Amino acid sequence: MRSTDRQTIIIGGGVIGVCCAYYLAKRGARVTVLERGEIAKAASFGNAGSITPDHPPINKPGRVRQALKSLLHPRSPLYVAPKPDPALARWLWIFSRTCTEQHLEQAMAALAPLGRTSRRLFDELFETEKLNCHFRRDGYYEVFLTKPGWEASRQEAAMVSRFGFHPEVLAGGALREREPALNDRVVGGIFHPEAASVSPYRFVSEMARRAESYGAKFLTGADVLAIRTGGGEVRGVEMRGGQFIETGAVVLAGGAYSVPLLRKLGIDFPLQAAKGYHRDCTPASPGTELLRYPCVLGESMVFCTPMDGFVRFAGTLEFSGVNHDFRRPRLEQITNACARYLKTAAEAVIRSEWCGLRPCLPDGLPAIGALSRFPGLFVATGHAMMGLTMGPATGKVVAECVLDASPSLDLGAFRPDRF
Ligand SMILES: Cc1cc2nc3c(=O)[nH]c(=O)nc-3n(C[C@H](O)[C@H](O)[C@H](O)COP(=O)(O)OP(=O)(O)OC[C@H]3O[C@@H](n4cnc5c(N)ncnc54)[C@H](O)[C@@H]3O)c2cc1C
Repeated sequence: MRSTDRQTIIIGGGVIGVCCAYYLAKRGARVTVLERGEIAKAASFGNAGSITPDHPPINKPGRVRQALKSLLHPRSPLYVAPKPDPALARWLWIFSRTCTEQHLEQAMAALAPLGRTSRRLFDELFETEKLNCHFRRDGYYEVFLTKPGWEASRQEAAMVSRFGFHPEVLAGGALREREPALNDRVVGGIFHPEAASVSPYRFVSEMARRAESYGAKFLTGADVLAIRTGGGEVRGVEMRGGQFIETGAVVLAGGAYSVPLLRKLGIDFPLQAAKGYHRDCTPASPGTELLRYPCVLGESMVFCTPMDGFVRFAGTLEFSGVNHDFRRPRLEQITNACARYLKTAAEAVIRSEWCGLRPCLPDGLPAIGALSRFPGLFVATGHAMMGLTMGPATGKVVAECVLDASPSLDLGAFRPDRF
């Protein structure tokens, strides 16, 4: 049997599952995506839409001290729910041990080729598939109100340049010439020219349609309760309602919701959900411009992305488990942060609010590839704040893992069973 003849089941219809389906189907494989809700309606729906191939992981030297300090600060973008949680404690322990210079170097060495490949694939996809989703190739500005913040970002820019990216250091005046929406308090920043942006929901929806045109099937309202194995191999998936779908190849792309399925296989996968929020806004009066280019408000870690007729302000990192509870003060913090950097953000009109869960692994790297204990089982999750960015490259290498067993990128650092 050729590898394209066997059916591949993908669990999860977010950006990762859909990109896997696209690249598998394009190569002629039989693919079905099982999604318990709707396609692209979880984290992939409301993210900031930034394609940031040079983004380092959150694990950095000094991060633990910074995180502890910021927990006491009411304006902090970080929130950890104050309740005993052994899984979160284990996550934080591994996280703290990987906030080292050495880990950052190794992580960037692994992430940079994935990011670069993805960025190239975005261009290719827009060229060949004519996706209609507000794709902009104009980079983004990371801007700072404080000299220490700007200095740290300059050091980071020097670090990412060693991995083949071209960040540009700019002082406040030069930044305001390019982005007039920034106010006088901004002291400096970095321009990331390799970055792009997109309307994320439209991107994933368009990709799903293209995957369908290559033969992929999408079943929504299809909740997978368990992945069944026998003789050490994958045999199929068990659905809510009792249906069993037989298959020898399963790709788990369930985002922040992936843990229970792995736990049922006896795998203790240290994935945590990190909730983020967005507010989509329009200017208070016609003729006023909120923002021209995508920006990251450095100290507040808020992403601001002009989309189709509105600006999306997205941020905060909330570790409170797998839930979609709205903490309104977190949303207010996003608006307050914007008002400190942008001239007209305080008066902006809110058009929608949303929260979603980033799937985060404690070493800051995604899990991509085969699970050696169970031949036929592949994992593609844990992309944290880079799921949209890394979607196309992840889809392509997962298709290679499933069909050829030899991916074109070194996935050693992303082994799903590394913990
Ligand atoms: C506020 C915010 C801003 C962000 N900004 C950016 C950004 O600018 N750039 C960027 O690259 N990334 C960004 N991210 C991160 C990005 O959104 C995520 O990394 C990405 O969406 C994860 O995609 P996913 O497909 O793994 O998960 P999801 O999009 O969450 O999809 C997983 C899907 O699997 C389904 N599922 C799970 N379990 C089952 C099951 N058992 N049966 C059936 N279906 C199942 C779920 O219903 C869900 O639809 C941001 C995230 C947030 C929250």
